[in-house]
Amino acid sequence: MKKKKNLINDCNLPDPIFEALKIDYYEKAEQESFCSTTELLMPPKRFWGLKKIYKMHYHENYALPASSQVFSQQGHMVHSFFESALGDNKDYIVEKRLYHPFKIGNKEYIISGMFDLYHIVREILFDYKNMSISKYNRGVGLSKFYGNAQGFDKYEEQLNIYAYMMEKSGYPVSEIRLLICLRDWDTMAKKQQPSLPDSPYTEVTIRKWTEEELITFISSKIEEKIAYEGYLVNDIPECPSEERWERLLAYKVFKCDSNGNPIGSALPGSSKLETEEAAQEFIDKRKDVIKARSVIPDITNTQLGYTIVKATSNPLMCMDYCTLSTLNKCNYWRNRKLEEAGL
Ligand code: SF4
Repeated sequence: MKKKKNLINDCNLPDPIFEALKIDYYEKAEQESFCSTTELLMPPKRFWGLKKIYKMHYHENYALPASSQVFSQQGHMVHSFFESALGDNKDYIVEKRLYHPFKIGNKEYIISGMFDLYHIVREILFDYKNMSISKYNRGVGLSKFYGNAQGFDKYEEQLNIYAYMMEKSGYPVSEIRLLICLRDWDTMAKKQQPSLPDSPYTEVTIRKWTEEELITFISSKIEEKIAYEGYLVNDIPECPSEERWERLLAYKVFKCDSNGNPIGSALPGSSKLETEEAAQEFIDKRKDVIKARSVIPDITNTQLGYTIVKATSNPLMCMDYCTLSTLNKCNYWRNRKLEEAGL
């Protein structure tokens, strides 16, 4: 009899999907570890918050939102597909969990990581990623909105940790490749964007790091976590904007009240400034500002009735993907919603 997770159907999943999601495929770790590679890449607030939630889930049967399991389950389906198709193929190793200790000061921190697929003869580490065409285009530089290639930084970090652990465990890695499935690829998309791959599947080679780069990176990630060990999650600073998936859109200049609060809409010509310096230059060039500064050189923007506002996109991770926000366990997100509602 398979073990079942305690889940709440928070996103109206059809019954068979909800029932299937409850099945717990988690296998007891062969070894205790500080964290997994995926966890290591999280910012401290989400890292410690999720650790607490999963501890309550496994020890006190605390219910998790089903929405938090949907994407990991899709990953599990793909891994099952590789296991059944390539599990007996002597050229490949499918899914293997590895453990490696990293020393910080006098203490060892064991990190675990499970790679997807390894070609033994060609020494290639493969990792399967399901992504949208727009994410792929941004990554490889095909996006007309983003221009240059943004790369796949998070994947590069994750896979280089796996590659390092593999080499330390006797599996040499000559190359690292993403096996990409474009979930919204169809013939119509290909006709509209001829530069897309000829099928939903494609590969991208990821840069392999030096050992020094890797050790420096992993040490900084572990140190960043242990700096907040034992803290209440509410006392850990919010995740940085890039981890909240919140993009800077522009700097804008507004008229403001005596407390610096913006009034009305952005001043004409100031709504798409790319840097804070450009916004300051916009203020500095105004006739009333030049006149006032000729009398009082160090008069502030606020005293002059101007303020610079940083416009960002919505923090998609907080809004739609973070289990802490779904469970109302993140004070940053709670407060931000209250502020936005003017409460
Ligand atoms: S809700 Fe946002 S800030 Fe809070 S832990 Fe999640 S990602 Fe971080």
